[in-house]
Amino acid sequence: MKYLTLQEQIEIGAQLFQESLKSEFYAQKYQGVKVPQSPNDWFSIPVLEREEIYDNSFPRSKRMLTRPIEDMIIISTGGSSGVARYTTYTHDEWNSFVETQADAMRILGITSADRVANLFIAGHFWPSFLGLHDCIKKIGAVHLPISANIPPEEIVSLCMEFEPTVMVSLPTLFVFLADMAQRDGFRFKNLRMIQYAGEGLSAQAEAHIRKHLNVQEIKSGAYTSADAGLMGYQCDHCPPGVYHVPSDFQLVEIMNFETGQYARDGEVGEILVTNLRRSSTPIIRYRVGDAVIPIGEKCVCGDKNPLIKLAGRSGQDFKIGGGFISMQDIEETIAQFPDFLSLNFQLILEDVENKMRIELHIESGCPPDDRIILDFKNKLFEKIKEFRIGTEKGYISDFVIQIKDLGVLPRSPITGKVKKLEDKRVK
Ligand SMILES: [Zn+2]
Repeated sequence: MKYLTLQEQIEIGAQLFQESLKSEFYAQKYQGVKVPQSPNDWFSIPVLEREEIYDNSFPRSKRMLTRPIEDMIIISTGGSSGVARYTTYTHDEWNSFVETQADAMRILGITSADRVANLFIAGHFWPSFLGLHDCIKKIGAVHLPISANIPPEEIVSLCMEFEPTVMVSLPTLFVFLADMAQRDGFRFKNLRMIQYAGEGLSAQAEAHIRKHLNVQEIKSGAYTSADAGLMGYQCDHCPPGVYHVPSDFQLVEIMNFETGQYARDGEVGEILVTNLRRSSTPIIRYRVGDAVIPIGEKCVCGDKNPLIKLAGRSGQDFKIGGGFISMQDIEETIAQFPDFLSLNFQLILEDVENKMRIELHIESGCPPDDRIILDFKNKLFEKIKEFRIGTEKGYISDFVIQIKDLGVLPRSPITGKVKKLEDKRVK
């Protein structure tokens, strides 16, 4: 992908800054801030917070818009955080977003000879299905618009019939398909690549998918935000979690908010993005909320666009008493029972009469007997001592493990994700 220097990015950013002043929101926010010409000027532009976007976006408000609502698509950006949020793109901006995404897919080797199964959920303003449709069209590949809105058995039978070479969806769905393949013994004979997006994929889930869907390449389609679009793409040399920054599309800064300076190479910081192509609702120095690490080294592929490593999205860990519990520890323990337990699971935490009640629901295509469940519980309590101590001391009143049929755990009707952590405790 094309590479821009910081100075070149700031020149585009300056035009965007001036355009943004046509909106009520930015005219007010940037009062007294001068048009950026240097990296120092750029650095002094105030950061844009998530709540500001929420409060000032269509249809709640038109304050962030620089033009009337015409010639646009409206998409949802906030399916997973609970509160619905929407944003507006002109059709030209949308086109530019999908062109960049299509470039990312071309870099991973998807060509016009591929048959791509689109297994995202459509509807509810959710952009993935539509965006992928446009990307496939730009690449000239064959589109199989199967979606994940239909029963899973139908997804399987359509994929058997139409023989995709590439499947694109969420990790939740791929884990589910691998569980079904393990139970029912089918395989997709021409499938060579899986591209996932929307959630992280653990090493355990990746190994499970690779084994049971018999697929060589498992790639992250992109690191994106619905507000800002593509923020990272992978090349063949990128290990999991590492991405090139598309500097021609996005001005990415990595801030250490404790020091108030940019994070140094190898140091964890928070990502700030400025989309260089979107002026109808400008997104300038937006604090996405993701922790990333600038790598600093050049990639061996020859692409000059810098590399970043994701250091984890928030919401994956929780607290019991004084200790932080990692969802990764639960996943790793489940992965020790690959013949019986699926990696699609849900942990529910609840306060009942001042004590905590915990339920762990796990899908299974081959339900384990009580002895195996007890063995699993013991291993989990060894790994996470807060569970054991809390149960012994009585501040965890119940710790219940329930085995569910494949596909039974509640999925978000908008995105299709299984919510792995349901924390119902009084905050
Ligand atoms: Zn590379």
